[in-house]
Amino acid sequence: MSNALPTLADFGKRLPIGYVDEAGVRHDKFELRDWDWDLEERIGAALEGAEGADAPFGRYISGIMSEAVKSVGTIDLDALKPAQRLGLLSRMYYSDMLYMYVWVRIEGLGHSLKLEPFKCKKCKRMIDFVGDLRQMEVQAVEGDPTKEIVLEHGLTYADKPRKKVKVATLRWSFFEAPEFEQAMRNPATMYLLTLQGGVVEVDGAPKPAYLTREHVKTMKRPEIVRLVREINNIGGGPVMSIEGACPHCKTGFEESIDWSYADFFGRSVP
Ligand SMILES: [Zn+2]
Repeated sequence: MSNALPTLADFGKRLPIGYVDEAGVRHDKFELRDWDWDLEERIGAALEGAEGADAPFGRYISGIMSEAVKSVGTIDLDALKPAQRLGLLSRMYYSDMLYMYVWVRIEGLGHSLKLEPFKCKKCKRMIDFVGDLRQMEVQAVEGDPTKEIVLEHGLTYADKPRKKVKVATLRWSFFEAPEFEQAMRNPATMYLLTLQGGVVEVDGAPKPAYLTREHVKTMKRPEIVRLVREINNIGGGPVMSIEGACPHCKTGFEESIDWSYADFFGRSVP
């Protein structure tokens, strides 16, 4: 366990990055509604109204969160129309949304998370483990989650060669994109979506930048992979893994948590 990071229980209901509104005000706390029957019905209606069978998974989570989140900083979600609430959530940084989502999971179902049984790397026996989501570590980000990167080969953008770009961590809208489910099966689509969401400035070109497939075609693959890695690494947020020790041989393990399916809400133990 890295000593530097606070646990979710210590970090509390704060956003790892924070939401900056149109007036430039940063909101870094949030509140959730009590999960009573009224909220159950509101979530049910939101999911029923918004989802098709093949809707991107991000939309499923947005449906839950638009009803479960009471406020973000001084923004009262009840004062917003449903479409405005969804718009606000789409603009939030994905690690902030994911962090709030873990809290909603804890308040709705408790903090226990049963892992899929897995094999110990040392003694090879099966481990059946129930993790505690309150022990999950949280990486906060100070200031803007952006980074300047100088590329060697670069790209052609607005008809000129460019080598300097600014990347930012992804917004929640990345997970709501209609192409997202396809991107889960197709690395090229995932790279393109990530660059479109994460490259926010290209040196000397009008802001904000937006990379099309034609722009990406002018890049070398190692630089594409590098940018995608940088974009994925600067956002902080909850470290989606559970640590424990093998009950048979006591060897420590760290198992990653797959939150990207509806069962993240279903798998708990009393
Ligand atoms: Zn073992």
